[in-house]
Amino acid sequence: MRDFGYKADELFCESVSVRKLAERYSTPLYVYSRKTFLEHYGKLQAAFRSVKPLICYSVKANSNLSVLKTLVRAGAGLDIVSGGELFKALRAGVPSRKIVYASVGKRADEIEYAMRGNILLFNVESLSELEAINMIAGRMRRRQAVAIRVNPDVKAKTHRYITTGHRQDKFGIDIDRARDIFLNRAEYTNLDICGIHMHIGSQILDARPFVRAVEKVTNLVQRMKSRGVGIRWLNVGGGLGIIYSGESPQTAQGYAKAILPFLKKLNVRIILEPGRFIAGNAGILVTKVLYIKETPGKNFAIVDAAMSDLLRPSLYEAYHEIVPVSSRSYGRSKRIRRYDIVGPVCESGDFLGRDRRFIGLKEGDLLAVMSAGAYGYSMSSNYNSRPRPAEVMVTGRRARLIRRRETYKDLIRSELS
Ligand SMILES: *Cc1c(COP(=O)(O)O)cnc(C)c1O
Repeated sequence: MRDFGYKADELFCESVSVRKLAERYSTPLYVYSRKTFLEHYGKLQAAFRSVKPLICYSVKANSNLSVLKTLVRAGAGLDIVSGGELFKALRAGVPSRKIVYASVGKRADEIEYAMRGNILLFNVESLSELEAINMIAGRMRRRQAVAIRVNPDVKAKTHRYITTGHRQDKFGIDIDRARDIFLNRAEYTNLDICGIHMHIGSQILDARPFVRAVEKVTNLVQRMKSRGVGIRWLNVGGGLGIIYSGESPQTAQGYAKAILPFLKKLNVRIILEPGRFIAGNAGILVTKVLYIKETPGKNFAIVDAAMSDLLRPSLYEAYHEIVPVSSRSYGRSKRIRRYDIVGPVCESGDFLGRDRRFIGLKEGDLLAVMSAGAYGYSMSSNYNSRPRPAEVMVTGRRARLIRRRETYKDLIRSELS
């Protein structure tokens, strides 16, 4: 997280003091570095320069409009998984020919919305969906381009909730069935079945599962070519892992080096769908210690952020580094203690970190939960009727509020009584 670091004793995001942001906008607060989003996007672009891919940032990782606009202005397309994400993508001003749409459960109204929006490709996840899209395209008197999402049946070493390319996962269509679809493509009179899509999971640290999967889909493209089926798009998905704490993921360069030899053999256009790789280390969640509670069993630092603001620790037992915003606040006490960093939500699973060592932690201290830029705010909820936090985008010395904190009124906005 190069754009988040200490100057003297204080944590900065680019050239802005995180403590000052917390004082100005209160906590809990998401703080993003614009530079990081753009640098990570640029790294993938550079690594894959030789095939000039369409990089479709995965909206679900962080769907704030300002984040989307930042990437869209840099040339990114967007990978969406719902009608709501399409709405946001269009609001962010992305050219519709740079939108790809995956999801195992696209509703008819979402399919129509995306067709009217002229998106580039549907990534189709089942035979039934293929038939539904064919029918809707017929009704709308158009020929719709689609890619088949293949489930390449590889095991990626990651949390079981975020593997998506194994045959027991709900995603995609197995290779044999995908082959049959391509060979019988004439049956789908309103479809142009012209692409293959894969996405094998998230937070994958090692290039090998990617290579195995890419090898399988490359073979499929070549076998189809020899049978006279032209495939124009190959979408290799996202899934690149990042550093939360001491991991050593493949770099963008390493990833490109591992899969480019396969991609270059084909005469197809390449799509990438990075989410976490771009957004994960571009954001932090700032929170304040409300109470220190020492019990015979454990010490707790109860903070004002909770699982409703950052779900990853509760959902996946994910590890986020948690650091003091101001290390001066250590004061005179040099006592090292271990704390569970927990939120106010009424669930024992509501924690942000467990058994974390701090020196002289005290009530009122500010903490930063690192690497919270992806699947942070976008997974947040109003559970326990907690208004959601604000979000701030830092650019150099400037900070801009890009989402105001929710109010109590926001909590009942859509209720009817
Ligand atoms: C979530 C998702 C991505 C992004 O995954 P990351 O691990 O964040 O890179 C890409 N493609 C599809 C289809 C997804 O569902």
